[in-house]
Amino acid sequence: MKLIPIPAFNDNYIWMLHDDRRALVVDPGDAQAVLTTLAQHGLTLAAILVTHHHGDHTGGVDVLRQSTGAQVYGPATEPMPEPLQRLTDGDVITPLELRLEVLLVPGHTAGHIAYWGQVPGSDPVLFCGDTLFSAGCGRLFEGTPAQMLTSLTRLAALPEATRVCCAHEYTLGSLRFALAVEPDNSELQAYQARALTLRQQLLPTLPSSIGLERAVNPFLRTHLPAVAHAVQQIEPKADDPVAVFAALRTWKDKF
Ligand SMILES: [Zn+2]
Ligand SMILES: [Zn+2]
Repeated sequence: MKLIPIPAFNDNYIWMLHDDRRALVVDPGDAQAVLTTLAQHGLTLAAILVTHHHGDHTGGVDVLRQSTGAQVYGPATEPMPEPLQRLTDGDVITPLELRLEVLLVPGHTAGHIAYWGQVPGSDPVLFCGDTLFSAGCGRLFEGTPAQMLTSLTRLAALPEATRVCCAHEYTLGSLRFALAVEPDNSELQAYQARALTLRQQLLPTLPSSIGLERAVNPFLRTHLPAVAHAVQQIEPKADDPVAVFAALRTWKDKF
């Protein structure tokens, strides 16, 4: 199985997983970028997985469904291009004979879902849309800080080798903020150096891994004294995990 990030728009990635014959894509905001990649590799599109309703994740779904006949999957409770199979927490789908589990991860949007699964002969994959970014997380458009913290805590508990396939290349900006929160985190400093080198070569910083995110992502580290203390310099009243998380997210919004 090969995993490819297809760049789209300014900073989106449409993730493709393929077995040299059939492919699935995740959050195809742009159909043409997917059709071009399918043609380059001689692939048939078998499945389209959608994480949430934003247009940069759904804009290419109708054209791809119509031109390839691929099965579309998406969240149970969000506006979606019909027809599709709607999914909620605990559902399992088996595109390309992979077993992918659905996790409901509200926060960025109210019904956002993620897909996690083992890949034979390789590390597991997580398609997390706009919930978890490398060294960051999605903005809270529809959910509460408590919901987002619960969602991110679930993702952080996945196996550490899991390849984290985020839907945007936001890593450098997220790292600048993460280093403002934890300037003495040496793994964070080393990761920033690697990410800068990759971006200078116009290469993706993704996929990340759950193990790396646990070490560098401040939004997965709000239970640690270093992160809580940094947040309390900005918001002294943040004294429980949800309040620390909420203040951290607000700090990032203004950063
Ligand atoms: Zn979004
Ligand atoms: Zn997005």
